Amino acid sequence: MKLVFATNNANKIKEVQALIPSHITLLSLADINCQEDIPETQPTIEGNAIQKAEYIKTHYGFDCFADDTGLEVEALNGAPGVFSARYAGLQRDASDNMNKLLDELKDSENRTAQFKTVIALSINNTIKTFTGICPGKITTEKHGTDGFGYDPVFKPEGYSKTFAEMPLAEKNSIGHRGKAVSLLIEHLNHL
Ligand code: IMP
Repeated sequence: MKLVFATNNANKIKEVQALIPSHITLLSLADINCQEDIPETQPTIEGNAIQKAEYIKTHYGFDCFADDTGLEVEALNGAPGVFSARYAGLQRDASDNMNKLLDELKDSENRTAQFKTVIALSINNTIKTFTGICPGKITTEKHGTDGFGYDPVFKPEGYSKTFAEMPLAEKNSIGHRGKAVSLLIEHLNHL
């Protein structure tokens, strides 16, 4: 059985392929010759994940799953959320995004936040979603150099270091994306 993972990130494909049942072959967007920008125009993280998975099913005919992630900050009423990638502008720069976030929170004692990943699976003409949440706090300055995106300013609950100060395996074991992927894999294993 062939299943598209709507990503061009070869590492993500390799990681998930190693965990799913061997009768399922994962295909990347490149494998199905999809070079276009898939629309992500929905107002929610869930909506965008579903939109991407359905787009591939409709236009390319493959069963598919797609992921979308956002950082939700309590004191900012859930922002940047679905706008996390372009929070400080269309240049989608991680440093600019973190600087904006730290500035918005500079007078706030409430630093509570969470990362949320939603994976939408479009299979056998039904849609199913899997959500992974990682609760934590926004720091007052950047710490660490590993990871990507908002990692240097996010300290997961129960830890005294940011995601950017952790080895990748440790981040994956407690992180939002890892949790959503585990739920997806559990589902695929029972198909
Ligand atoms: P995407 O849906 O994976 O493209 O993620 C949207 C935005 O959220 C990215 O541009 C990153 O800035 C941020 N992001 C997603 N996952 C992570 C993470 O694991 N750590 C830090 N930032 C992340």
